[in-house]
Amino acid sequence: MAETGTLHDAFIDELRDTYDAEKQLTKALPKLAKASSNPKLRQAFESHLEETQGQIARLEQVFKSLNEKARGKHCDGIAGIIEEGKSIMEEDFDEATMDACLIAAGQRAEHYEMAAYGTLVAWAQAMGHTEATKLLHQTLEEEKVADKKLSGLAEGGINRNAADAAQPEEDEEPMAAISGATKRSAKAGRR
Ligand code: FE
Ligand code: ZN
Ligand code: FE
Repeated sequence: MAETGTLHDAFIDELRDTYDAEKQLTKALPKLAKASSNPKLRQAFESHLEETQGQIARLEQVFKSLNEKARGKHCDGIAGIIEEGKSIMEEDFDEATMDACLIAAGQRAEHYEMAAYGTLVAWAQAMGHTEATKLLHQTLEEEKVADKKLSGLAEGGINRNAADAAQPEEDEEPMAAISGATKRSAKAGRR
């Protein structure tokens, strides 16, 4: 009895994929945190790990609201993104550059999740699954905030630190003094 799949079947499939993706991320986020040098970045990954555990619980509520067993199905997409993150962590970068790369890896994961939850919310809404829509929307918003937080850290100094670290090393002391003075005067000029 090969029945044609419905949007509801596709929805359950996507939920299983996302459930598995979140579980993979609970293993990857501690690694990103551990590899971070900037304390705020480490904190951001650690707090998103806690959020992720809540998101897993929320997905379990979604399955329950649909009378479905909470079950995962291997998510190849996030596995690939995590794999790329691992390769970055194996590179020999200075601390600031590594932090910038960890943000890049983290944001790839957040955008993947935003795409997944965006679809899940829209489908739940289209099929009139009110409870599921509400829960999935909460997670979608958390993912967006996590992504913005990473952008804020990158643009708030980490990218600049990484760019500064790329300056030629000759005349290190005078260069350091100059860049220090430049930073101060740039700051003063902005006031
Ligand atoms: Fe998530
Ligand atoms: Zn997937
Ligand atoms: Fe996330």
